[in-house]
Amino acid sequence: SKREGFATIPDVSWDDIGALKTVREELQTAIVEPIKDPELYAAVGISAPTGVLLWGPPGCGKTLLAKAVAAESKANFISIKGPELLNKFVGESEAAVRRVFTRARSSVPCVIFFDELDALAPRRDDTVSESSARLVNTLLTELDGLSERQGIYVIAATNRPDIIDEAMLRPGRLETPLFVDLPGAAERKDILRALLRHNKAVDGIEKITDIAGTEMCNGYSGADLGALVRQAGHNAILRKSKRLDATDFALAAQKVKGSVGDMKKYYD
Ligand code: ATP
Repeated sequence: SKREGFATIPDVSWDDIGALKTVREELQTAIVEPIKDPELYAAVGISAPTGVLLWGPPGCGKTLLAKAVAAESKANFISIKGPELLNKFVGESEAAVRRVFTRARSSVPCVIFFDELDALAPRRDDTVSESSARLVNTLLTELDGLSERQGIYVIAATNRPDIIDEAMLRPGRLETPLFVDLPGAAERKDILRALLRHNKAVDGIEKITDIAGTEMCNGYSGADLGALVRQAGHNAILRKSKRLDATDFALAAQKVKGSVGDMKKYYD
């Protein structure tokens, strides 16, 4: 597997992502186009937003979107999971954050992806530790340093935008919030179709994707649809078949439960 924190170009394209059409279009115009043609954007005097915040329930494609942005613009991708940066000795987390930006500067164009940003940048109130507050300050300083330099774009993701320090979201920082919603029935069909795009073992793709649109799959995230595909594969193997059909998927849908649960917190 790829080492965390190192730059590579991911191999995810827009076509690997089902649904999320509006979010994909916004990322394409906001980031991908400016990276591909910086002279054009400089000539017109506009630049890409330095930062985007993808927010919404888990397993709905935030990581996938960030990877596709990098891949579609042929930019390097550095991925950081918030909680992993935190489990360090005093001062080491800040050094690690600075190292991430240094590494990005030596591999432009570059997309830095901060997953679970809420762990790295919690609101600095009286309950937050001193070291945590220092880490937020370090992140803010690095984000502010970006506007002068071209070619580094920050995408952050969170399930809990409500607990992130507001200073992170000011203009010039993670100024563009994009909501990545739980898919509805039609979107689930589109996502399952994307997940099965290269799967040659599937018989009856129309009937199979229809299952994702039924109420058996209400509340499924994209990640849950991934679990559905795996369970359908197990079902095929159980009946000693190397091919997956609609019955394998229908039985799988009885077993896989939606993982997101209460959606209220995402709409407060
Ligand atoms: P988390 O908040 O848990 O980090 P996330 O929103 O970043 O979740 P991803 O990691 O992008 O979610 O999605 C997990 C997996 O679910 C993907 O690798 C993919 O298999 C599937 N998936 C989720 N959303 C989509 C989608 N819109 N299209 C295709 N596959 C999807």
